[in-house]
This record gives sequence, structure tokens and C-alpha cells, in this order.
Amino acid sequence: RTALVWMRRDLRCDDHAALYHALRRFERVYCAFVFDTDILDALPRRSDRRVEFIHASVAALDEELRQLAARSGAPGGGLIVRHGPAVPTIVQLARSLGVQEVLTNRDYEPEAIARDQHAAQALQAAGIALSDYKDQVLLEHNEVLTQQGSPYSVFTPYKRAWLQKLDAFQLTPYPVQCYAHHLAAPPAGERLPTLADLGFSATNLGSLALPPGMQGAQQLLHDFAPRMAAYQEARDFPARKGVSYLSVHLRFGTVSIRQLAALAAGQAAQGCAGAQTWLSELAWRDFYFMILRHHPHVVTQSFRPAYDRVQWDDAPELWQAWCEARTGYPLVDAAMRQLLQTGYMHNRLRMVVASFLTKDLGIDWRRGERFFAQHLNDYDLAANNGGWQWAASTGCDAQPWFRIFNPITQSQKFDPEGKFIRRYLPELARVPDKHLHFPAAMKPLELQACGLRLGQDYPLPVVDHASARERTLMRFHFLSAGA
Ligand code: FAD
Repeated sequence: RTALVWMRRDLRCDDHAALYHALRRFERVYCAFVFDTDILDALPRRSDRRVEFIHASVAALDEELRQLAARSGAPGGGLIVRHGPAVPTIVQLARSLGVQEVLTNRDYEPEAIARDQHAAQALQAAGIALSDYKDQVLLEHNEVLTQQGSPYSVFTPYKRAWLQKLDAFQLTPYPVQCYAHHLAAPPAGERLPTLADLGFSATNLGSLALPPGMQGAQQLLHDFAPRMAAYQEARDFPARKGVSYLSVHLRFGTVSIRQLAALAAGQAAQGCAGAQTWLSELAWRDFYFMILRHHPHVVTQSFRPAYDRVQWDDAPELWQAWCEARTGYPLVDAAMRQLLQTGYMHNRLRMVVASFLTKDLGIDWRRGERFFAQHLNDYDLAANNGGWQWAASTGCDAQPWFRIFNPITQSQKFDPEGKFIRRYLPELARVPDKHLHFPAAMKPLELQACGLRLGQDYPLPVVDHASARERTLMRFHFLSAGA
């Protein structure tokens, strides 16, 4: 009996649910990945760090699968890689390989759910079964429910229930290696497409500290593990190496969420506050997957319907200034440059720039959400939508609408010496620390002393925060009746 494992956002061969079940139940198991033209053709640029990251991770996975098979004495191993529309491509491949079943890991995004339903029907018509497994999350949308059996919409009680359910069984890795001798070799003549074959060109990915593939993930984890204890106090400062930078690996499944959670849970159980906080972040990840799965309307609408009555501004010039890191608020501009130059943005800064777009510039969160979707290496619909709706106050368990970040005090608090700002805004290098957070407040003599020409070397602020704040309070005021 023969099976095909269809890999998507799970580009690894250790602790892999669908691969484990396939190898345990079938004598011959093929593995495949499809570069889905429905997704690739919709990307705005032909040079995209994510495509390059996936491409490199797919090549690494091909090699890892060969080595895994070789270690178990099997002749097989390797990955079959195709380029085309996902469903017809996988159906055609399954038929040509003569498999009885296609196994895959579950996805929770509305479009992916529709794709998988379509695939199940098309495969069934060809006499082939499709089965799917939990792999991407620790606990699924229907595993953590209130006593009444409904989904949570507030994080703290959700996390309490989530932690109770997260037992040793949930954290046990799938021992793929025990059955690796069932791995089949790809048909003769298979070759991996190059990036150019896919119609894409290289980016600056190679110059970023973001090694792809399973080994890249383990490298970052190895670097983070000893820093986990300090996570709680270091994680809010973008100039410090306080976070794990593993999000892109979680996005493409080059690391197992169970491996990460087991590490954190082990240290948390010994009272390590940093590990407890990091584990909470993994709970947020599950929480937003759960919200998206139960409430798919959030993709285009506010979680709380009343908030869709908020009147946002069109403001094309302000929008352009935000996108191009020209707002005149250094922390916001440095954060946007980090995004544009690297595809990463620190979590504290994601909150600051999202708040700035919605509450200082009065622009609809959906526009910012789409911009992040185009630029973030770790872009993930569930977490991104959750983060934007949190900052815009339209989401579940969101920042209350009257709580408005001050971009200057956020800067003073979380980048006190301006190290992060100077890293991304070298034009402000000579501005003294105390003025770096808001150079527009400098007097002419102070500007002259550091050689900064405001409006030329660095923009004047596009809005005044105090008046923008008043406008936002007016914008949201109709909700004060308790919506
Ligand atoms: P760490 O601090 O090391 O956290 C470890 C992991 O926990 C992360 O990799 C991530 O998987 C998860 N995590 C941490 N914080 C959150 C959170 N608030 N919500 C959900 N999961 C979380 N995260 C994404 O993975 N993709 C996105 O597209 C995304 N967009 C965001 C947009 C906004 C406006 C905001 C405020 C947050 C967004 N986040 C997103 C959440 C968070 O900013 C990133 O997960 C984090 O910055 C990634 O860096 P890290 O891996 O070093 O995180």
C-alpha cells in the first residue's frame, strides 16, 4: 500500500504528524510539495523573501528526507516538487504515483480550508482518500472551549484552560524515524525547480540572520534557548536580542511547535518566568488560530461588528508617509525601515506602528494589515489579523479604543538610548539621545549643533500626536455607550 504526504506549511521531517501516520500505516510513502501558482501569482513582487526562504527550505527538506531514509537503510527518501495550481497538481501526482491515500496537516485559514475541501472531492473522484492531522497548533479550535462548550474570546481564561490541557501527551514528538524505512524514492528524473524556474529572483535573504530549513530553525533555537530565561525582561526592547526570531520557521513549519512548547513548558515548570512568558506567546499563537477558525468573518470585518461603524480617513499622503517610513516619528520610521529592509519587525514595534496608523493617522486597520501581509517574512493571517485588530481596538480582547499609544513615550521607554532608531535611521545618528525620540521639538540652535535639517534630512511630523489623539477619541466616541 502506497501513500503521498502533501507538505505545505510543515517543511520538516521530524515530529511531523502526517508523515508519521503515513509511514506507520503504509509500506511506501512519497512526499511532495507544490509551489502553488494560485498563491505565487497573486504576490505583488517577483522578488520575495518568503518564496526564497521556502525554496531554500524545500531543497533542504529534500536532502533531509534522503538522509533520514539512508539512516534507516531504505533506498528511498527525497521530495517531489511541483509548480502549478495546488489541487489539480496534487491530484494528478497522486494518480500517477498510484497512491491509495494523500495525508496532510490541517490548515485553519478560510482559503486553505476551501482548497482542502476541493482537494478531498477531486481525490475522492479518483478513488483516493484525503486525511488530515493536527500539527500546526498545539491545541485546536475545538480542544479548548468554555464550560458551556463555546469558544473563548478573552485570552487570559483561554490561556488558563489551554495550559491545563497542554499535558505530556500533547507535547510528545511523533517518532517519524522509527518508520523511515517506508520512505519511497521520487520517480526517476525528478529535479527541484530553481527560483528562476518559479519566476522569482533572489532577495537580500542571504545577508539576513535568517538561516532557512530545519537546520536553520535549530540554529536559531540553539541561540535562543539560553536566552529564554531573560525573555520576560528583554522582549520589549527592539535594540536587544531578547526574542527568538523563530516566527518565520513556525510559519513554514521548519520547526515543530511541540518541540518549542516542550522546551518552554519544561523550564516553566521549574519556575522560570522567562519560559512561562514565552509559552504564553505560543498560547497567543493558538488563540488567534482558534479565533480565525471560529470567526472567519475577521478576515475582512471587525471581530466586534459595532466597530465596523468606525469612519476611517482616506488620507493618501499620510498613508504613503507611513508606508515609506517618513512620518517624522523616529521609532515608527525605524520600525517601518526594519520591515522594508529585512521583512521582520519586532513585536513591540508592530504594536506601535499599527497603533500609529489607526489612531494617529486614522487609517483603516485593514490597509495596514494588507501591507504587513505583503512585507512580513512571517506573515500569518491569524496572528497578523489578531495583532492588527488588537491595536485598532476592533478585535477580541483588544486594546480599549481610548487607550492610545504615544509614539514618543513608547520610544523613550523601549529604545531609551535610541540604539534601534540609529540602526535604521542613520540620518539621525548625531542627534542627542534626549531629542532622538522627537527631533521636531529641537530648537534651531540645537538642530544646527548636530547638523540636522528638519524637512530635508528627516521629515517634519506628519501629524501632531495630541490633536490626532483627540480626533481618534471623537472617531470612536459613539462606542462609549458600551458596544
Ligand atoms: P517571540 O517573541 O520569540 O515569540 C515566539 C513565537 O510566539 C512567535 O514566533 C510567534 O509564533 C508566537 N507569538 C508571539 N507573539 C504573538 C502574538 N502576539 N500573536 C500570535 N503569536 C505570537 N506574528 C506572526 O507570526 N505573523 C504575523 O503576521 C504577525 N503579525 C502581527 C501584526 C501585528 C500588528 C502585531 C501586533 C503582532 C503580529 N504578530 C505576528 C505577532 C508577533 O509580533 C510576532 O509573532 C513576533 O514578533 C515574531 O517574532 P519572534 O519569533 O522573535 O517572537
